[in-house]
Amino acid sequence: MDEQRQRLLRQLPAVEELLLYFQEHPYPQAFPRPLLTKAIRRVLTDYRQQLLESPAAVLPARLSETELIKRVEDVVEELQRPCLRRVVNATGVIIHTNLGRSPLPGAAIQQMLEVAGHYSNLEYHLKEGRRGSRHDHLEKLLRELTGAEAALIVNNNAGAVLLMLNTLAQGREVIVSRGQLVEIGGSFRMPDVMRASGAILREVGTTNKTHLFDYEQAISSETALLLKVHTSNFRITGFTKEVPLADLVALGEKYHLPVAEDLGSGCFLDLSRHGIDREPSVLEALGQKVNLVVFSGDKLLGGPQAGIALGNRQYVEQLKRNPLTRALRPDKLTLAGLEATLRLYRDEQEAVQAIPTLRMITKPLAAINRQALNLARRLRRRLPPPFRVNLWPSIARVGGGALPQVELPSRALSLEHPDWPPHRLEQALRQAQPPIIARLEQQRLLLDLRTILPEDEPLVVAVLAEILAPEA
Ligand SMILES: *Cc1c(COP(=O)(O)O)cnc(C)c1O
Repeated sequence: MDEQRQRLLRQLPAVEELLLYFQEHPYPQAFPRPLLTKAIRRVLTDYRQQLLESPAAVLPARLSETELIKRVEDVVEELQRPCLRRVVNATGVIIHTNLGRSPLPGAAIQQMLEVAGHYSNLEYHLKEGRRGSRHDHLEKLLRELTGAEAALIVNNNAGAVLLMLNTLAQGREVIVSRGQLVEIGGSFRMPDVMRASGAILREVGTTNKTHLFDYEQAISSETALLLKVHTSNFRITGFTKEVPLADLVALGEKYHLPVAEDLGSGCFLDLSRHGIDREPSVLEALGQKVNLVVFSGDKLLGGPQAGIALGNRQYVEQLKRNPLTRALRPDKLTLAGLEATLRLYRDEQEAVQAIPTLRMITKPLAAINRQALNLARRLRRRLPPPFRVNLWPSIARVGGGALPQVELPSRALSLEHPDWPPHRLEQALRQAQPPIIARLEQQRLLLDLRTILPEDEPLVVAVLAEILAPEA
């Protein structure tokens, strides 16, 4: 080994020495000692390795203590950072399943905080001073908002589907159109959930066409349920036919069979009033006298993760009595957040303004354009050429398996820097604090303003400055 390398290795401080340094120079946030020791060991091991492996030409002249200390601080910070944390969604996909779907309205967050840090009447009947049920808190409100006879909240919509099938059709047949045997995000496939529930799938029709007579011919003494599944994340277009819910309900009545619909992304508003394509709403399904409808709390509804089942009292009561309900029950934070979100729906205007998911979907292009111009101006002020930022036309999406073919016109910022190929800048943004998730489109790095929250904007400026002009 060359002499230079040996000298540098000898100069490496001992773990104890660095520990002593940090004791004498308390870093702004006090590190737990075991974490500090762990970080020091890791940094020293990595540094030793680096000295052993680097070509002689790039070896430093002497060891920099400042650099070692900086590295220890970086490692400790990394160790202390929560694994699950906030990111900036600049993808333009509003209900982004990988990024936590719907950001919650302020009222929901407030109510969750209130219930989280204190005791609550989760299962306590305040008027009568006796044990109550967590299932009672939201039922009245849901009945008021939707006109449904009864309601039940579970952990998520996959859970609601499972519970419904297990309760109504275990060991018996459920008739579903072949064109509706959907897979959502890989982990939820209708045939698999059906198997897990103990129900037997009876597929009818073909991929593109199913007629009412297909259902009728499949009905036998084994039939327990007619199920319609909203094909929420794709569209089959062209030569197609689906049986309208109302016709299915009439068929169910004729044969005394319950009819249920898995809406997936349950919407309470008629979004066509806001210029968005039609999405079957919860109210429509109930209006057509479906016996049970299930949908998600954190898709178009814009609340916390939950599964909501609405419908005839007789069936909802059956769901409540199933022991699976205990395994799928929502926690108090979900209930608190969902109740506060649902309350906003008492006033449609308020819902559209206060629920971030709806606000982003209905935001006019002119407002997004203004936001884009402002952010571009701030970035130009902070980052001189050769960095370049330009407005770029973009198409945003609703996401979350809702309105798959709806294209929301949007504006993006296109970022360019001669030293940073788009994919490298994308990676640097993704690994920054906080991470910024951008979109790469045809060799172009885009930040879509439809999903960047107003409070995210200063962070975007700070992170880009940190990456592109760290010394400035
Ligand atoms: C999203 C979706 C589900 C699953 O809902 P989660 O809330 O994610 O559990 C089930 N069915 C359909 C049609 C969906 O779109």
